Amino acid sequence: MLCPHCNHDADLTWKRYWSAPLGRHQCPECLGQFQLEYSIGQIASRLGIALPGALLAIMIHTRTEGWLIPGVFYVAYSCLIGLPLDRVIDNRWRKAMPLVPSGTA
Ligand SMILES: [Zn+2]
Repeated sequence: MLCPHCNHDADLTWKRYWSAPLGRHQCPECLGQFQLEYSIGQIASRLGIALPGALLAIMIHTRTEGWLIPGVFYVAYSCLIGLPLDRVIDNRWRKAMPLVPSGTA
């Protein structure tokens, strides 16, 4: 993530990823607040990650009883593939927008 205040390239660690589920971060260098931008490409990439897992889960469901096994599969898919890819996309490709402190805009 490139800080929009000081251009410091801060790595999106797992700790930072989990502590900011809405994409609001603080630069470790200048302490400036910023928001990772939402875009069509970012939404499409998340769908591109989630859809194959969902389709595989549905395929598993057609060959098994109930949704337990497909559900466990989808949770494992999300943890092992979806979340790591999402973090990489957030870290490398989502643009950071500066957050203006409230009351100054
Ligand atoms: Zn900064």
